[in-house]
Order: sequence, then structure tokens, then C-alpha cells
Amino acid sequence: MSSNIVWHNHKITRAERATIKHQKPCLLWFTGLSGSGKSTIANALDVALHHRGYHTFLLDGDNVRHGLNKDLGFSDSDRVENIRRIGEVSKLFTDSGLIVLSAFISPFTSDRRMVRNLFPAGEFIEVFMDTPLATCEERDPKGLYQKARAGQIKHFTGIDSPYEAPERAEVCLDTSEMTVDDCVDSLIDYLLERGLIFQNGQSA
Ligand code: ADP
Repeated sequence: MSSNIVWHNHKITRAERATIKHQKPCLLWFTGLSGSGKSTIANALDVALHHRGYHTFLLDGDNVRHGLNKDLGFSDSDRVENIRRIGEVSKLFTDSGLIVLSAFISPFTSDRRMVRNLFPAGEFIEVFMDTPLATCEERDPKGLYQKARAGQIKHFTGIDSPYEAPERAEVCLDTSEMTVDDCVDSLIDYLLERGLIFQNGQSA
């Protein structure tokens, strides 16, 4: 990084940006195997929060790879850079006062820790989609497991590339046992318990 780059302190603070939206920003980081339900649950929570009047933003794996990260592939170093950029973008969105939902396989503990460390304590909420591989493979919503098993996709997480399960995720959801509504309810309960959202809508 150039030593000529100086950090500018903005006149409007992070707290002021959140206060005008009457909310407390945080990042919900959905991690889990392909087909574990990250996208489905993040979208459903996004809708639930939006209807309660909260300002949210959803960052999703494939969408980010179409734009911001379209120069990145699936090598180890590109996977690290993929998550690093998403973490930094998530941070900028929370700095703007939003509740951010990010849904990425993010298989490596060290990458998730790197993102966690960007945030003040309590603002990074790791949501582990603890759906068994067998269920994910059976669903195979994008046909990717079939291709991975046939050797047409290399380094596919859960097949020939590891997934390091979080040991201390703030929330664990197994969508083979919980419905979409169950998952959304338990996430809403978590946010209410932590005082990040309020029963009667916005307030901060
Ligand atoms: P990911 O984003 O983790 O790759 P997706 O959300 O894209 O996973 O895919 C999960 C698939 O499982 C979807 O086709 C969804 O409809 C299906 N599904 C079935 N039951 C559930 C559930 N209880 N929660 C989430 N997804 C479910």
C-alpha cells in the first residue's frame, strides 16, 4: 500500500449514519456447503427485516462473482481475496448504517476470522448452515454436485475441497430439520435478544 494514502475522517460518523436510520448495523455472515440454504435463508431474512422497516443489504456469492470479483477464480489465493473483498464491502455497508447479510460458502476458518476481525465485538454474526452434505447433495439445486462427482468441477467444497465447520458460530441452522420460517424465526430471535432489532420495529 502506498505510504502517501492518508485515512480521511468523515464529518458524518458511522454512528450518525446508523442513528438516522433508527437501527444498529451488523453483519450476518452465512457460511455452509453449496445447497445448505444460505441464499434461501438470507433472502427470507432480508424480506422479514425489510417488512419490519429495517434498511438491509444482501451480498450473495454468484452475484458478487459477476461483478466486483469477476477477475477472481477458485485458486486458493483467489478464494482468500474473494472473501477479503466481500468482508471489506460488508464493512463499508455497515459503516453506512445498514444491516448486511452475506451468503458465501467461505469454507476456511482463517478467512472467516479475517472478516470477523474487521468488526467491533457483537457486530459480526456467524450463521453456520449446518445442513448435512447428504441433504445438500440430494437437493443439488444447481446440479453442481453431480458435476463435481463426475469430475467436471475440481476443488468443489465438500467433495474434493474441505469445509472447515465453525466451532463457535453465533447461530447454527440445519435446514434438513428446520423449515425456512423456523430459520428466520430463530435469526429474528437472536437479533431481538442482542438488542440489534426491536419487537416494535426500528429504534436506536
Ligand atoms: P446455498 O445458497 O447454500 O447454495 P440455496 O439456498 O441456493 O443454498 O439452496 C438451498 C435449496 O434447498 C433451495 O433449492 C431450497 O429451496 C431448498 N430447501 C429445502 N428446504 C429448505 C429449508 N428448510 N431451508 C432452506 N432451503 C431449503
